[in-house]
Amino acid sequence: QRIVEPAPAQAKPLEYTGDYPGNLFMVVAPSGAGKSTLVNALLEQDEAIRLSISYTTRPPRPNEKHGREYLFCTKDEFAERRRAGEFLESAEVHGNFYATSRIWIEEQMRNGRDVLLEIDWQGALQVRKQFHNAVGIFILPPSLDVLEERLRKRGQDEPNVIVRRLLAAGSEIAHAPDFEYVVINEAFPRALSELQCVVAATRLRCASQYARHTELFMQLGIHLPQS
Ligand code: GDP
Ligand code: ADP
Ligand code: 5GP
Repeated sequence: QRIVEPAPAQAKPLEYTGDYPGNLFMVVAPSGAGKSTLVNALLEQDEAIRLSISYTTRPPRPNEKHGREYLFCTKDEFAERRRAGEFLESAEVHGNFYATSRIWIEEQMRNGRDVLLEIDWQGALQVRKQFHNAVGIFILPPSLDVLEERLRKRGQDEPNVIVRRLLAAGSEIAHAPDFEYVVINEAFPRALSELQCVVAATRLRCASQYARHTELFMQLGIHLPQS
């Protein structure tokens, strides 16, 4: 006779309705805050996260490659895909259209993979309506002056494009409170480590642990309330 008897397990795994076992991260920031640099560094150190490659009608920057940063497409192709229901969300940002592939995300998440979306705040709010457990992380610059300096130093956009992005920054930043987490990207190593902490904590959420360790939860007699 064991001293600690687990409660009898109901041999019925959780049924996921709208949510999948994988975690969905949404990283949002005004242009130039360091979102892509942070995300790329995170992905280099964490092979379990997959980055969703968005569709965009924006022309490629000199150092960008089709299929790596974006799936670049014409406005007609974009409209056609949207009509066909291929997008999980879409939005107009700085005069260009952006969208996330629904099919790709659903496939990744159904297989229990963690997925990261680098999208704008409007898209993040649309995704949240469909994936209630999606985790939103807003990246802030340490100041507007630093944001401007980073955009100019990056040297990838025409001066008029930079001005347009800076003008939009204020209203984008105003949406930070819509997100669970805020990372201030001042010293890069610290910001990266904070982003990694958010990922680690999310993976420890009860539902996420249950999905990855269902056998153990059942052996221990832990039942999760059906959502
Ligand atoms: P960056 O902000 O300087 O990296 O410039 P980009 O042209 O790459 O992105 C402009 C904005 O569009 C940023 O706010 C991105 O987060 C956003 N964006 C990129 N992909 C998507 C997407 O699939 N959906 C939505 N809604 N926004 C996106
Ligand atoms: P976003 O994807 O948010 O538009 P990027 O990742 O392209 O921003 O970063 C904008 C510029 O700022 C890049 O040139 C990048 O190297 C630089 N940068 C990013 N984070 C920092 C930081 N913590 N300190 C200094 N420069 C940074
Ligand atoms: P390819 O055109 O070679 O199949 O894909 C090029 C790159 O884009 C690969 O990294 C692939 O995973 C990615 N990719 C292709 N289609 C999609 C899609 O619909 N959504 C996302 N997020 N990535 C895609």
